[in-house]
Amino acid sequence: MSRILIIGAGLSGATLAERFANRGDSVLVIDKRIHLAGNCYDHLDRGTGIRVSNYGAHLFHTNSQEVWNFLQTFSKWQNYEHQVLVKVKNQLLNLPINLNTVNQFFRLKLKNAEEMRSFLAKKTKKLKDVSSSEDYVLSQVGQELYEAIFQNYSLKQWALDPSELDSAVIKRNPLRFDADNRYFTDRYQALPVDGFENLVKKMLTHQNIELKLKTDFFKFRAQNDLSQFDQVFYTGAIDQYFDYAYGHLEYRSLDFHFEEHDLEFYQSNSAINYPSLNYPFTRIIEYKYFYPPAKPIAKTIISKEYPTWDGEPYYPVPRERNHLLMKKYLSEAKKLQAQGIYFVGRLGTYRYLNMDQAIAEALKLFERVK
Ligand code: FAD
Repeated sequence: MSRILIIGAGLSGATLAERFANRGDSVLVIDKRIHLAGNCYDHLDRGTGIRVSNYGAHLFHTNSQEVWNFLQTFSKWQNYEHQVLVKVKNQLLNLPINLNTVNQFFRLKLKNAEEMRSFLAKKTKKLKDVSSSEDYVLSQVGQELYEAIFQNYSLKQWALDPSELDSAVIKRNPLRFDADNRYFTDRYQALPVDGFENLVKKMLTHQNIELKLKTDFFKFRAQNDLSQFDQVFYTGAIDQYFDYAYGHLEYRSLDFHFEEHDLEFYQSNSAINYPSLNYPFTRIIEYKYFYPPAKPIAKTIISKEYPTWDGEPYYPVPRERNHLLMKKYLSEAKKLQAQGIYFVGRLGTYRYLNMDQAIAEALKLFERVK
């Protein structure tokens, strides 16, 4: 039986904890927050009974059969296919851009992919080298849609012009040539029926797992000898682990302003993006759409998202400066593997990971090091 220490009770840490505990190892999970589940944490609002995500809406989607099968043990799931609208002047358009978006925006009646391709071919320029988000969008949809949907949204979200931002960011939102309005096209798209907090709680409920909340790793390390653990999995920020020796990695954060309204619905869709600089927020989420109440209620909860450099580290900023720093931190992290210390998850590897990717990587790491 090995002794395992896991820092962070988010999905990455919980997946590893469950796997090791299931194998018969003794696992200690610590997290500095007052709750488990990391950024997927949600709760039922006391007044309205509406399930609200504390760190932004979380919608599960995956093509991985392995991840999907793994999750079935811990929760029942209800289907949920996400759609996003974007407000451009007085119109609400579908996102990612698809046949409907192009028809709505240019007031056309294109009927199929072929017509959409030949229409956009006249709007776009073929670029030899597509490295920034700006190049990518211009080469895909042309100037008008770029300005209406992407340019200012990117400025607000990242405080960077799309010309400074890796094309990888925008490629998460691929162009579609059909009229499929779903935000994701993955095979499995669903929500855990009792929310993500309960999903992770179930993962961590095991006789071999001890969970200590309100326990910061750096204080813990100062008071405890880590050599008592055979393996350590750290899902906190990698630069903090090394005391920012090479400098701080940049993160973009969000300030969530929650509002309760005496309305059955505040808006016509769960998520509406606001690219215009006339609005200081980027997005309004209405939570009722994710877990509709059993009976209609004349109350609803929304959150407006204000991007900021302060607050929780949410989005790694994918630009050259951070790639260079990350190379240095990764080489330090690699050296620690010999001592059984591993860096895991979105903060430990400084990458934007969807929930299924975080779980898939944790499962893979378990198989490699068990
Ligand atoms: P986290 O959930 O961040 O967990 C890390 C944990 O480590 C935290 O609980 C933290 O408190 C703890 N920790 C950090 N430092 C220390 C320390 N020093 N000591 C002790 N504990 C520490 N993914 C999707 O698939 N679908 C979505 O719709 C989606 N929406 C998102 C919306 C937003 C706004 C954001 C930011 C992310 C979204 N994601 C979404 C991604 C999702 O949140 C991540 O995939 C998931 O959180 C990864 O889990 P993790 O365990 O790696 O990290």
